[in-house]
Amino acid sequence: MKKTHSLHFVAVILLLSCIFPMGAEAWHDEIHVAIAKAAGYSKWFNAAAADIIKVKAGDVEYSNHFVNNPPGTVVDAKMVIRQAKRYNTPEEKGHLYGAIIASLRDFAEDKKKGKYGQYHLAFSAHYVGDLSQPLHNIIYSPYNKKFHLQTDGLLQNEIFDHPEKITLHPITIKSENDLAREVARIANLSIQKGYQLEKENRLMTREEAYECISRSASLFKAILDYSDSF
Ligand SMILES: [Zn+2]
Repeated sequence: MKKTHSLHFVAVILLLSCIFPMGAEAWHDEIHVAIAKAAGYSKWFNAAAADIIKVKAGDVEYSNHFVNNPPGTVVDAKMVIRQAKRYNTPEEKGHLYGAIIASLRDFAEDKKKGKYGQYHLAFSAHYVGDLSQPLHNIIYSPYNKKFHLQTDGLLQNEIFDHPEKITLHPITIKSENDLAREVARIANLSIQKGYQLEKENRLMTREEAYECISRSASLFKAILDYSDSF
């Protein structure tokens, strides 16, 4: 590589690391896996795969894991559906909500064609987990930078010993619109919690974290039932 090319390469990497700050990961692997297991997903062990792929797919995958919502944002079902066409597209704002819709569409399509398709469902399991991480739903502010990693790992060392702390709430999904409405509902709770934590300038408590991941597990359980009809 010529020197000018390598300088360009470094500049691109620096630019990308500003747009997609590498601190913004996700609930840690154990938590994604525990959410999927609590939901009754038979392939729960694949729930961290969407983070694993970031190592190689980089910016293609990165924006599927968050949405940088400014304070006061209210998410609705239409916004969730609109984001679906941005799936796997690098962008600064992120489109986590649309990624849930799009990965399930991919699963439905493969299933109709008689293909395996399960890996699409595994992506969906992961994105539904990220949906309840409040700091994946607010601007990547100095508060978010400071507390992100700690929040991601908050339950990491205890989650496998306490699966009973994940509570399943009844959710019924019969259509993509139902799904978009449920995604929007949980997104709004995550945004509210994220900005509350930022205002109080504190790490969330373990109890708050269990409350959050219970929402993800409940939604993914409903998605599993819904996807049986694909
Ligand atoms: Zn993630």
